[in-house]
Amino acid sequence: MPDWSTLIRDVPDFPRPGIVFKDITPVLADADAFAGAIADLAAPWRASPPDAVAGIESRGFILGAALAHALGCGFVPVRKPGKLPARTLAQDYALEYGHDRLEVHADALPPGARVLVIDDVLATGGTLRAATALLRRQGAQVCGADVLVELAALDGRSRWDDPAPLRAVRVL
Ligand code: IMP
Repeated sequence: MPDWSTLIRDVPDFPRPGIVFKDITPVLADADAFAGAIADLAAPWRASPPDAVAGIESRGFILGAALAHALGCGFVPVRKPGKLPARTLAQDYALEYGHDRLEVHADALPPGARVLVIDDVLATGGTLRAATALLRRQGAQVCGADVLVELAALDGRSRWDDPAPLRAVRVL
């Protein structure tokens, strides 16, 4: 089985002209590649799994749910505004143009629960940073912030000022 990351493809001019989007859907569609990506995400956590994995909508749900299953722990969705049915906490964060918001259920995790936050891609780092801040406000202990792919050109790592360790399985 070749390295799963060779299946990540570049899609030019998505979602806007001039942006080259890293598309992980071919990795998800290939059984061996998907299993390899989840195994690589899981490897450092097998000895001491978190209490839960929190996945950021929407590709973070796919990876996070599979990872939670692999580690034998629970899954918590971190969602776009207005999607979660019960009482929520919200975290606003800045985008290049404008702002966005993430929400989590206020009672998603018991106080002090160890949670690992997962997303597919780290670009500027704003989304992952907002998710870690939100979960900490919720009362959880964020033990890690892991992504499948870090986009080196966008330099999110140099701006990572969160106490949780940042890990990328691949840097592209
Ligand atoms: P950031 O907040 O700038 O780090 O952007 C990361 C968020 O945007 C993540 O939730 C990613 O899913 C998404 N994203 C940004 N660029 C890409 C890309 O090239 N491929 C896939 N997702 C991306």
